[in-house]
Amino acid sequence: FRRSTRIDAVELSEILKISELAEALKRVGRDIITLGTGEPDFPTPPHVIEAAHQAARRGETVYTLTAGTIELREAIADGCQRENGYRPEIGEIIVSTGAKQVLYNAFAATLDPGDEVLIVAPYWTSYPDIVTVCGGKPVVLPTTAETGFRITPDQLRAAIRPKTRWLLLNSPSNPSGSVYSETDFAALADVLRVAPQVGIMVDEIYQHISYVPFRSFRAVAPDLADHTLIVNGVSKSYAMTGWRIGWGIGPKRLASAMLAVQSQITSGASSVSQAAAAAALNGDQQMLAERADDFRERRDMLAAALNATGVLDCPSADGAFYLFPGCAAAFGRTTAQGRKIDNDADFCEVLLEEQGVALVPGRAFGTPGHVRLSYAYSRASLHEAATRIARFCASMT
Ligand code: PLP
Repeated sequence: FRRSTRIDAVELSEILKISELAEALKRVGRDIITLGTGEPDFPTPPHVIEAAHQAARRGETVYTLTAGTIELREAIADGCQRENGYRPEIGEIIVSTGAKQVLYNAFAATLDPGDEVLIVAPYWTSYPDIVTVCGGKPVVLPTTAETGFRITPDQLRAAIRPKTRWLLLNSPSNPSGSVYSETDFAALADVLRVAPQVGIMVDEIYQHISYVPFRSFRAVAPDLADHTLIVNGVSKSYAMTGWRIGWGIGPKRLASAMLAVQSQITSGASSVSQAAAAAALNGDQQMLAERADDFRERRDMLAAALNATGVLDCPSADGAFYLFPGCAAAFGRTTAQGRKIDNDADFCEVLLEEQGVALVPGRAFGTPGHVRLSYAYSRASLHEAATRIARFCASMT
């Protein structure tokens, strides 16, 4: 088969590459610690699992409404009211098999060939590829630790062109952990108000893992609701990555275009998973704050250990469960085993081979010169990883 040029443009995820190398080393008996994957390390709450069992026993094992069950969309609307201060209408909500599919459906439904999507780097690895597969053109806006890895209004103003169709933001961010404040969003909204051809897609999947006050873009700029798509889901907050439930909240015209894609092409979400997600949103929410506190402690422990290496430079990370330190101080140096480190990919590869710790190079997120660590791992794993990374850094001359 000849591959489509769009698929040829899609890279195998760097996360997958490093995981494959880690697996190969494990198979030959190496003791490998992986800090590469972004999923909570606690189980789905028992009442959520029970709700799924009950739904299956009730016979809810058939197709649901393609946009999602009314029960789940009501729960999403209630949750949004409770946490963000606005209540979307049911027709503005479309449930999909994870936030990733929401992003795909939205771009597939709205991009014409060559339409541009502004993507802020460091970005979640899938963003540019989803845009490419949907026929659009990803336009990457680089940011640095100096601006907290957030784009500035001036940067946004300068980037908007006649072909710009969307601005895609992620707050809290994977991989940088940056969170846009109310003031940040308000300033960006001022720019967007005079560029009505640009839609604003905000991926808020890490909403509940924020160590500073979280603000939903739609709450800050309700007058832009007609141009805004909020993306969220249960994967990260409720430890439900495998249940595959995410949703988009956007104007009805957009929701119905996304529904057309979902009904004909990507399909609706699992009935049983939808019942489980509704139970998560309607049930005890106290666990969310407890989990966030727990993640914050792990962040602090790991960031302190990384900064103490004198090689990794960890900027603050206000949310999600990742650290994104710079590793440029290692470049041009050689490890005790004689391996030279010239870039972030070398850093990860040699660290994995010499010390058995798997991280992801920053280039996977459009930002070379950094590495990403997930701290959604046990404290024991984090301690051991930090010890090995310190040993690795100390061995460089
Ligand atoms: N958005 C971001 C920023 C993510 O980090 C991830 C998963 O890593 C997703 C979306 C995917 O979420 P889901 O599992 O709901 O598809």
